Amino acid sequence: MTQLAADANAFDADVIIVGGGPVGATLALALSQSTAPLDVLVLEAQADFSARRDTRTLALSHGSRLILERVGIWQKLSSPTPITRIHISQRGSFGRALLGADEVGMPALGYVIAHSELQTALHEALLTCGARYLRGAQVSEVTPGAAAAQVHYMREGATQTGKARLVALADGGRSLQIPGIVRTSRDYRQSAVVCQVHTELPHHNLAYERFTEEGPAALLPSGDHYALVWTATPERAQVLLALNDADFLAQLHTHFGDRQGRFLAATPRLSFPLSLHQSQPVTREHLALIGNAAQMLHPVAGQGFNMGLRDAWELAQATLACVPEAIGGTAMLKRYSAGRRLDTQGGIFFTDLLVRAFSNRMPGLRQLRGLALSALDALPPAKSFVVRRMIFGAKG
Ligand SMILES: Cc1cc2nc3c(=O)[nH]c(=O)nc-3n(C[C@H](O)[C@H](O)[C@H](O)COP(=O)(O)OP(=O)(O)OC[C@H]3O[C@@H](n4cnc5c(N)ncnc54)[C@H](O)[C@@H]3O)c2cc1C
Repeated sequence: MTQLAADANAFDADVIIVGGGPVGATLALALSQSTAPLDVLVLEAQADFSARRDTRTLALSHGSRLILERVGIWQKLSSPTPITRIHISQRGSFGRALLGADEVGMPALGYVIAHSELQTALHEALLTCGARYLRGAQVSEVTPGAAAAQVHYMREGATQTGKARLVALADGGRSLQIPGIVRTSRDYRQSAVVCQVHTELPHHNLAYERFTEEGPAALLPSGDHYALVWTATPERAQVLLALNDADFLAQLHTHFGDRQGRFLAATPRLSFPLSLHQSQPVTREHLALIGNAAQMLHPVAGQGFNMGLRDAWELAQATLACVPEAIGGTAMLKRYSAGRRLDTQGGIFFTDLLVRAFSNRMPGLRQLRGLALSALDALPPAKSFVVRRMIFGAKG
């Protein structure tokens, strides 16, 4: 659709996506589904994804499954494990809630997949979807502008410039500063230790979320084992990383109790520092921030990528609904950001509240939390409210 002319009004692409991670790649695939394909350029800093083995697992909501189905990726994943129920408790106090997908007549609350498998499927689809996909392209600058946004990037030793009606920044939020966009942060002073563990009893698709005063811990059914996300202070996380397997499994047992019997084996452990980062505003002239570039959340509710997928999907729909001249224009981006506000602000508020209310030693709070969990468990309308939001995000 875009003509590569040399005059000042020419564009190098209709849409340039900075970052070919899971959110940027999903945007490119969603845009490629149009009957009048747009010219999409994806700039990814890494030259080789196979070099980056991310052993994390991701809990995806049922809503995210629907998006991945529409872009043809879900069908390529070998074995997503459904989560049909989730058991929520707090350590050292009463109160627990059991939420099930049957509460709202859905087949699953969500699914657990391997991050590396998702990334590989997306990467392969990017190679054939019609978008231009440049790997080893490190973007150094993004500038919004009245008629177009511009990017500068370095590839094969040469600096290049690209101009587009819309630049979507999906770089994960760590690499670039954009004029007019402020990124605020809250350091939770927590790290997530992740690995896979085998338990004595089979999981029967039941997930656990256990709140403790040092942070939440989750067990997510994944294949024939559990994926563990254990949040602790950075100092304690270092200790957990350094333990031998037997000592680690013993500490995990003390932390979680024996609902799943004994913990039998663990894979090598990794840790991730946890913070909340939020960019404001998430759009400027001919520029939109999506995924972790717009908001990076604590993984307590497994919402980060789910929210990023909805950013990508809705930005693609807003773009495809425009005539070419209106792509990236003020009206389109206003509609897009207004449409995303409730979901993102609601999700950020809910996640931050969970982390701060449950990782807190304030007198009386433990009892309050216990009462809240018991009330949630006893009230079917409250359960279905929470379950719908787990599945579809803050818009329910
Ligand atoms: C321990 C942990 C557990 C989690 N669990 C869950 C979960 O269960 N469910 C869930 O929904 N979310 C979860 N998340 C969050 C999820 O991992 C992120 O939200 C998601 O990976 C963000 O994807 P992204 O594409 O926005 O960013 P990224 O994955 O960071 O991708 C950014 C891409 O941009 C590229 N890039 C960066 N800078 C540049 C540049 N200057 N030029 C060109 N390319 C660039 C990078 O190489 C990368 O490929 C978890 C996070 C953690 C830490």
